[in-house]
Amino acid sequence: MSTLRFEALKQTFNRKPVKIEEPSKRSELFGSNVFNTSVMKQFLTKEAYKSVADAIKTGSKIDRGVAEHISSGMKQWAMAKGATHYTHWFQPLTGSTAEKHDAFFETTGDGGAIEKFGGGALVQQEPDASSFPNGGIRNTFEARGYTAWDPTSPAFIWGTTLCIPTVFVSYTGEALDYKTPLLRALQAVDQSATAVAKYFDKNVSKVNATLGWEQEYFLIDSALAATRPDLQLSGRTLLGHAPAKGQQLDDHYFGSIPSRILAFMRDLEIECMKLGIPVKTRHNEVAPNQFELAPIFEEANLAVDHNSLIMDVMGKIAEKHHFKVVLHEKPFAGINGSGKHNNWSLGTDTGTNLLSPGSTPMKNLQFLTFFVNIIKAVYENEELLRASIASASNDHRLGANEAPPAIISVFIGSQLTAVLDELEKVTDGKLSPQEKTELKLNVVGKIPEILLDNTDRNRTSPFAFTGNKFEFRAVGSLQNCASPMTVLNTIVAKQLKDFKVEVDKLIKEKKMKKDDAIFNILREYIKDSKKIRFEGDGYGEAWEKEAEKRGLSNNKKTPEALKVQISEETIKLYEELEVMNKVEIEARHEIELEEYAMRIQIEGRILGDIARNHVIPTAIRYQNILIKNVRGIKEIYAEHYKKHADEQLDIIEKVSGHIAAINSKVGEMIEARKVANQIEDAEEKAVAYCNDVRPHFDEIRYHCDKLELLVDDELWPLTKYRELLFTR
Ligand code: ADP
Ligand code: MG
Repeated sequence: MSTLRFEALKQTFNRKPVKIEEPSKRSELFGSNVFNTSVMKQFLTKEAYKSVADAIKTGSKIDRGVAEHISSGMKQWAMAKGATHYTHWFQPLTGSTAEKHDAFFETTGDGGAIEKFGGGALVQQEPDASSFPNGGIRNTFEARGYTAWDPTSPAFIWGTTLCIPTVFVSYTGEALDYKTPLLRALQAVDQSATAVAKYFDKNVSKVNATLGWEQEYFLIDSALAATRPDLQLSGRTLLGHAPAKGQQLDDHYFGSIPSRILAFMRDLEIECMKLGIPVKTRHNEVAPNQFELAPIFEEANLAVDHNSLIMDVMGKIAEKHHFKVVLHEKPFAGINGSGKHNNWSLGTDTGTNLLSPGSTPMKNLQFLTFFVNIIKAVYENEELLRASIASASNDHRLGANEAPPAIISVFIGSQLTAVLDELEKVTDGKLSPQEKTELKLNVVGKIPEILLDNTDRNRTSPFAFTGNKFEFRAVGSLQNCASPMTVLNTIVAKQLKDFKVEVDKLIKEKKMKKDDAIFNILREYIKDSKKIRFEGDGYGEAWEKEAEKRGLSNNKKTPEALKVQISEETIKLYEELEVMNKVEIEARHEIELEEYAMRIQIEGRILGDIARNHVIPTAIRYQNILIKNVRGIKEIYAEHYKKHADEQLDIIEKVSGHIAAINSKVGEMIEARKVANQIEDAEEKAVAYCNDVRPHFDEIRYHCDKLELLVDDELWPLTKYRELLFTR
């Protein structure tokens, strides 16, 4: 009997939900471990508070002397909450978060010690960064990296550590993390969007991008997960036969949340409340043991931090409940994968959601202006948007008939389509008073009513307008939201900037009224960007053909999807908006290619090991049992034995066939890896892994899965899909 698997199953069957003490009002817990505005007012001097508040609002620098006051207030607060250490918390390009803890404790030199946290330690640190990916930046510039405080994301206490959100940059100023370009993109979109919003409301002085993510994940019992080296090391199963019953009955989606899972969710939510992460929604997802969690939306930088933080917090809380959190986009073949919808909008400091139609025609023209510009931005940069969500793991999901395709398109619903169709007919040049009245009354003026009953949400669209926000649905569950958010905000910033120039030109040169000019430019944009709009079934084959005709990209694999990141246009775009320079862009591109090749390399090694060390020996053991059986039959029946051993002999031969196939295909895969490993160029190497190594996985898996069906269940060492997915 395969001891480990059955031991794990026994452990799982005996588990009870962990008891969770929950306060009746979550609002009382909210933000209790966050150094937020109200705490700052309490622990900081007036001057120090003002300095932080200004830095948050305008990005102004914090003076070194003031930093001393801030750090001292922060330390006092953190120690009162039981914190003993502090860390600069940042998001290196590995996709997770990094932290190095330092104690507040310092010796005084006279044999004594004090608790200290100076302004310098708050503002800047130098982590030993040599192990973080840098795409050659540090080598080129001989530069070291440092972390610097980002006051727009408040410090928080996690466990007994005060965590200070920081950016991570090289000494020559190049970004080495996700946050730095994101902050620059948010600044760019603020600038462009504020200028455009001023057409409609002079009082607007800042525009914030908002993000509400929805995180999908699987929970697998930790004992069961421990029996699967593939799940442990690569985050997904590399083999495993489909269970007899999957998700086809939808009974999980509509069923109640299982009690052990609910205990985990409540525990997680309590921690989130303390950390100021405004989680609101929890539910079962389509696949068995798949779930979703979503907060109320926040300013994008904070929302990105909160998502990075929660992915970490989930793992820690899950340990307590004997679960492994699986964030991979496709942990189980044939079973629904996980995504992370990014709900995104733009909001002004006057409290207006720029993607929410208002009560007056002018407000609606504002809505249409942003709406149309965003569609145009997506059209012009669809390939870059696709690149922002490319990864080895997300490749399994995009275009797999359960998730948006690798083709980017925009869904807006039939009513808004009708509005844009009307706007397309607007007169070229100055509008007559009648036309304007007609437009205001019957087109622009009708929008709020339209949206209320716009219920035809298209679930197959990668980029859908959903009433008062756009929803980017192709983002991967494992991904840091910063990449797609950086691209989206950059391209919208650029588009709005160009729009402003064009409108101003018509006003100045053609002596047009402001709204005439806006209508004229919008009309052209609507025409120009029509090809990106698609209301049909994004999962269908017909769309692939249609998209090709329209000239839209369909980059199914990461190496080809990433190409656009270093095109001349992309570099021009990022440099113009000051989001990234050429060095940073190229470094990032290389890091992503390297990461892609590494992921496939790791998967290949794991699959090879499992196939040769687990599957083949098990198959041989079973075959030996059969051989013994056949020998026994022969002893009894002599020359007539075949009549009674026919099936056994057939299985023996089948097992041999699969063993031979697995062994030779693993050998071929190893050879292909050896060749790929010789390649120096990052892109060529990624392509080799994609085209020459990865295809072997399916072949090897096919034979392993066939053996799983043949071999005695008692002997099979790897926990099966039905056990991973239906035990909880
Ligand atoms: P679902 O996609 O599951 O149907 P919804 O479409 O209702 O869910 O999306 C809800 C998500 O949208 C929530 O995470 C919410 O915070 C987010 N959201 C709502 N308004 C905005 C906004 N103005 N900006 C960004 N996100 C928003
Ligand atoms: Mg959604």
